[in-house]
Amino acid sequence: MLKDKVALITGAGRGIGYSIAEKFAKEGCHVVICDISEESSVQAAQSLTEKYKVRALGVKTDVSNFEETQKLAARVIAEFGKIDILVNNAGITKDNLLLRMTPEEWQKVIEINLNSVFNCSKAVLRPMLKNKGGRIINIASVVGVMGNAGQSNYAASKAGIIGFTKSIAKEYGSKGILCNAIAPGFINTKMIETLPKEYIDNLLNLVPLKKLGEPEDVANIALFLAADLSAYVTGQVIKVDGGMVM
Ligand code: NAP
Repeated sequence: MLKDKVALITGAGRGIGYSIAEKFAKEGCHVVICDISEESSVQAAQSLTEKYKVRALGVKTDVSNFEETQKLAARVIAEFGKIDILVNNAGITKDNLLLRMTPEEWQKVIEINLNSVFNCSKAVLRPMLKNKGGRIINIASVVGVMGNAGQSNYAASKAGIIGFTKSIAKEYGSKGILCNAIAPGFINTKMIETLPKEYIDNLLNLVPLKKLGEPEDVANIALFLAADLSAYVTGQVIKVDGGMVM
């Protein structure tokens, strides 16, 4: 479905990002795995090259750093010639009630979750315009739609991503660049590992499908948004949450 396309996926050393990279590689897509961890980005790229015989490159990049992201995009263009798909996936949580939240906890989450989306989208924009099209897929969260106590920083970053997605869809639709967001519910990755069992049990009461999502559930929608199947879809926020938010 993505044969000989080139995709840049952020935060893809593990979790949802890795699952998206694997799903794309399986479809013949060359993948650039960017992660803050050198070890996991390089290892992930090696394992995808071996398994799927595509070109995969692992590059340590801090997506909250503007210069690093511009260098990353330039390297991808130098080595692969184009960027067809960008998946802005890297994200973190630093949960706290507003009463206790420090400016550092606020800023770090905004920098990594939201500024990164500006940085990376800006870095791929000219190459995509030159290529007469592209796909930008932003990983938001249902928390950006519904809010969540203890996550005002995270919810603000994800709501910001949704506004950004719709604006970019409007700015560049006529140039063939489609921009959509995915809003996952609670997905079984390291990010939610620290949540107490009681919290998860209560949460599952709100999920009609009565289970957590798997990274592959999100990757399947990312594949749809990256492929020709979604040629008339832009500016949308697709929830992957077992029906939690309707
Ligand atoms: P994860 O397992 O923690 O993976 C996040 C990845 O991003 C990690 O590999 C992490 O590297 C990397 N990363 C962190 N900061 C970075 C930076 N500055 N530059 C580059 N890479 C960085 O989390 P996940 O669950 O797969 O989450 C992926 C995305 O889905 C996030 O945007 C998250 O907000 C969103 N999401 C997740 C859920 C969920 O329930 N899991 C729900 C809704 C939305 P390290 O190895 O150094 O940490």
